[in-house]
Amino acid sequence: MAKRILILGGTGEAAGLARRVHETLGPQAEVILSLAGRTRAPASVPVAVRSGGFGGAKGLGDYLRRENIAIVVDATHPFAATMSAHARTACAETGIPRLQWVRPAWTIPARARIVWAETLAEAAAKLPALARAAFLAVGGRGLAAFASLPNVRLVARAVERPETLPRGVELVIGRPPFTVAEETALFRAHGIDTLVARESGGTGFAKIEAASDLGLNILLIRRPPPEPGDRAATTAAALKWIADRL
Ligand code: NAP
Repeated sequence: MAKRILILGGTGEAAGLARRVHETLGPQAEVILSLAGRTRAPASVPVAVRSGGFGGAKGLGDYLRRENIAIVVDATHPFAATMSAHARTACAETGIPRLQWVRPAWTIPARARIVWAETLAEAAAKLPALARAAFLAVGGRGLAAFASLPNVRLVARAVERPETLPRGVELVIGRPPFTVAEETALFRAHGIDTLVARESGGTGFAKIEAASDLGLNILLIRRPPPEPGDRAATTAAALKWIADRL
């Protein structure tokens, strides 16, 4: 009988991984992709999709038992730290094996003009001294931290229009990945002097390369540490880890 694998998603990689597990482990594995439910038009996948929060670690634990889940793969975004912590707690309590998908970190070019921040709030506090026109690549929900900054023009990008957009923030709609040429053109078109980004890893590196090439300041928010436990950074490693447990 097929074992049920819950993939906690919300990223392109999670959807890709769900597809690969389904294709590769076929009849042995029944994949369920879980989304937080914030994106109105998520990418389509050939597996079952559930949507919406579980109700904390306790709610997730109840769901895992009720749905007879055998394996959890936490492939949430590197900055979705709450969901990852809940996954660790719920899997520890239920004894269900958990793999965390960890995006490889970027190798920052030596020429990049990086200023580090630990949090969105710290980045917002540092921005007025650095920028006259900043591009905010901090996700729709990260924008609020940059409301009402003095003397900084703000341009932001999101997959879709966020429910609340801080006053004065100009919005560009776009779904990643973007090429270096696209990012360069965007920064030039908007006269950007500073990029604000999270150290997310993955395909978002094009904006770091483009900003480095243009000599922009890059205000980079450090990624939260991953949860302890088994990790994979490639699809092949994740597939092997899962196959070993089927
Ligand atoms: P978060 O702060 O870690 O999670 C907040 C709450 O959202 C969780 O406690 C959980 O609610 C629910 N949730 C999050 N991911 C879920 C999932 N895959 N399935 C079901 N419920 C989920 O996460 P976030 O930063 O708000 O991100 C929300 C989702 O967007 C995640 O799936 C993440 O992968 C994706 N995403 C986030 C970012 C980002 O910048 N943070 C960027 C791209 C995509 P309950 O406590 O009720 O279970």
